[in-house]
Amino acid sequence: KLASREFKQDSTIIKVGGQAIGGKDVHLMAGPCAVESRTQLLECAFAVKEAGATFLRGGAFKPRTSPYSFQGLAEKGLEYMVEARSETGLLIVTEVMDPRLVPLVAGCADILQIGARNMQNFPLLKEAAAAGKPVLLKRGAAATIEEWLMAAEYMMLEGNHQVILCERGIKTFETYTRNTLDLNAVPVVKRLSHLPVMVDPSHGTGNWWMVSPMSRAAVAVGADGLLIEVHPSPGDALSDGQQSLTPENFQGLVQEVHQVAHAI
Ligand code: PEP
Ligand code: MN
Repeated sequence: KLASREFKQDSTIIKVGGQAIGGKDVHLMAGPCAVESRTQLLECAFAVKEAGATFLRGGAFKPRTSPYSFQGLAEKGLEYMVEARSETGLLIVTEVMDPRLVPLVAGCADILQIGARNMQNFPLLKEAAAAGKPVLLKRGAAATIEEWLMAAEYMMLEGNHQVILCERGIKTFETYTRNTLDLNAVPVVKRLSHLPVMVDPSHGTGNWWMVSPMSRAAVAVGADGLLIEVHPSPGDALSDGQQSLTPENFQGLVQEVHQVAHAI
């Protein structure tokens, strides 16, 4: 298998825009759940850059559970992401949900994100991989690690080996948290695969006050990066406000994460 350690022993380092994912640095990809407006995004982008993030996250196309919820700004959202990149120098990661929109999104993004809900959307995986940009593949909420690695395999078979895995929590019987962040997945994936693995403690917990402690834990178990939701005013967010950090809290998280990274 192309993703396996048997196929390739050395850990894969994905080079994108002067950054290296899977090397010694822990990457922070931070920003709003959804791009809501130009000012919201730019304010957020400057704040996370200042705090030490290397990538800006932000959804222009949002996979909402309810069709009545805010669905994202679509093309306009991508435009704002591109503007935020040129203003801050941050690289951008954004989700693509529709195979027909891969050329549009890949034309803007530095990393294409495949969301948890689409982890086994095989036509989308193939189309996204064929665009040739690095892909961040989220684990499905009900996917086993084996199924997740097989999804990566679909993309690698297209000739794109720049796959970053991202643990974002799975469905369990526990209801207190939005998902159960499966940090077991990090050492398991590191053992089975040479691909970089990141952790998303925002969706993995659903609660902003859990994001920092679980980020520290993720780094302690060997995560190559963190995907974190940050909003200038979480109470006003159009999606996932309850799990979004203020810029100030994100700054605190960065300090704590660096302490753990230096200690291991
Ligand atoms: C996201 O990160 O924007 C997102 C929708 O997360 P997930 O696909 O993990 O639910
Ligand atoms: Mn979200």
